[in-house]
Amino acid sequence: MKRNNAAQNLSDYDHDVVIVGCGPTGATLANLLSQSGANVLVIDREAAIYNLPRAVHFDDETMRVFQAVGISDALLKKVRVNPGMRFVDSDGVVLLDWPRPVDIGRQGWHGSYRLHQPDLEVLLRDAIAQYANCTLKLGHELLALEQSDSAVELTYQNKKTGTTENCRSKYVVGCDGANSIVREAMSVEMEDLGFNERWLVLDVLLNQDMPELGDHTIQYCSSEQPITYCRNPGLRRRWEMALSDLVSDKQALDTSTIWSSLSRWISPQDATLERKAIYTFRSQVAKCWRNERMLIAGDAAHLTPPFMGQGMCAGIRDASNLAWKLTMVLQNECADVLLDSYEQERRPHAREYITTAIALGKLINSLERENVRSIALDGDKADLQMASIAPRLGSSDIVTEPFRLSRHIGKLFDQLVIADGTRLDNWIGYQHVLISRCGPASVSVKPVKKKELNLSVCDQVALSAMLDQWQVEAVFVRPDRYVLATTNNLNDSANLNWQSLLSSALPSAEY
Ligand SMILES: Cc1cc2nc3c(=O)[nH]c(=O)nc-3n(C[C@H](O)[C@H](O)[C@H](O)COP(=O)(O)OP(=O)(O)OC[C@H]3O[C@@H](n4cnc5c(N)ncnc54)[C@H](O)[C@@H]3O)c2cc1C
Repeated sequence: MKRNNAAQNLSDYDHDVVIVGCGPTGATLANLLSQSGANVLVIDREAAIYNLPRAVHFDDETMRVFQAVGISDALLKKVRVNPGMRFVDSDGVVLLDWPRPVDIGRQGWHGSYRLHQPDLEVLLRDAIAQYANCTLKLGHELLALEQSDSAVELTYQNKKTGTTENCRSKYVVGCDGANSIVREAMSVEMEDLGFNERWLVLDVLLNQDMPELGDHTIQYCSSEQPITYCRNPGLRRRWEMALSDLVSDKQALDTSTIWSSLSRWISPQDATLERKAIYTFRSQVAKCWRNERMLIAGDAAHLTPPFMGQGMCAGIRDASNLAWKLTMVLQNECADVLLDSYEQERRPHAREYITTAIALGKLINSLERENVRSIALDGDKADLQMASIAPRLGSSDIVTEPFRLSRHIGKLFDQLVIADGTRLDNWIGYQHVLISRCGPASVSVKPVKKKELNLSVCDQVALSAMLDQWQVEAVFVRPDRYVLATTNNLNDSANLNWQSLLSSALPSAEY
């Protein structure tokens, strides 16, 4: 078994972790790793944030990760709560409804938000700037990387000056997007799940609000030209249109063609065309996410058609899953075999979102109500309503007996909005926590590296009700808010600490 080398002196290395790519995945990972004090270098070949139309949606779990990063309050001012998605036929008849709760849900946030991706990326990069232990080098392109038993050697180029620089790092995470050079260095192939379609994506800025366009996302189902409409924050609106093979990129991007295809909804008198792009929506998952000291995350590891608005969300989940594991390995609390659980847990989870998005893509390409019924995820329901999916993580062997038997392992745990209006995660931080009942309505909350929280009676009653709902007496929650273990035996809960929980299959220098 490979032992971790974190005990080696940092002076043997320039960095603990080099993150290649500062898109949403890399920037989130950089923030979470930097919180632990790790020495992080982030490089991105572009000098500025990518400005073609991309993510316009994220969910409550993703917001919870942004909360851990520390940007959720600022982000909240930039986003819009999304009431849901409707699939309609050419007559506007609703074929399938996917309502999203308008209230704060079990994650402590709304289920669905609309955003302008560059707004998020600015906040993530600003947050990185607060860490003296994290260096961000924009306009620097990774040219080559090679790993040995003890390190990864990287060569990157300052694109402005042409100067080449080298560094030596304990780990490298490729958050470098769909054409990842890190994935290539790992010799990893993609599994193709079969969905490949060319779509035109148009972002417009309305001159003034047009309530008649509606607040829901609308999927115009059609076997000829499926179209998606998104009600984005402020005056931004998005249309995505499938392109036939008979239409060239040049024709599709022609301004007068664009306005004629939008004429059903708006005219040039109503709005400005802000951004336009043609993408081939793909459905792929990397066959391997870790090769010793090299890992991949985000679009480098998986690509999904955007119909569920989950591509970026999956990358944010990757970052949150990986950051605490890298931290434990770097701090010599666990052997680096812990990093294998990253792919074991995240790959099936990301894949499930992709296969669901493909099913939705088929639905949007369909005209027939019967097809919708057969494709709909909850198709037995007479009213054809769809619910959000919440897959559990893939199984990994990181928990010891008897806790391994817990039926809740790998599920996302809830977040309490506490009586003073703040959220419990803020007090816990991005770390492990034990929540356990200590009386009929009294509950203790003990983060691993902090003092036990001092909660009001009212908050303890609410947490007690949460444990009732989960039908457990104690739960050990990981920094990414997934359940590591639960027990109904309060005597066990005394032993619920991470040293005893993490499997004996994960030796470290410490135990
Ligand atoms: C039309 C469309 C709509 C979408 N809608 C949604 C949505 O609503 N919700 C959602 O969750 N997702 C959505 N997505 C997906 C989402 O935009 C992506 O999943 C997300 O941007 C991926 O983030 P990332 O950080 O993994 O990769 P990227 O954002 O691609 O970032 C990769 C970074 O790596 C850098 N890089 C690459 N190679 C190198 C190198 N050699 N050296 C240095 N730097 C390098 C690049 O410059 C880039 O900044 C959508 C995508 C599209 C195209």
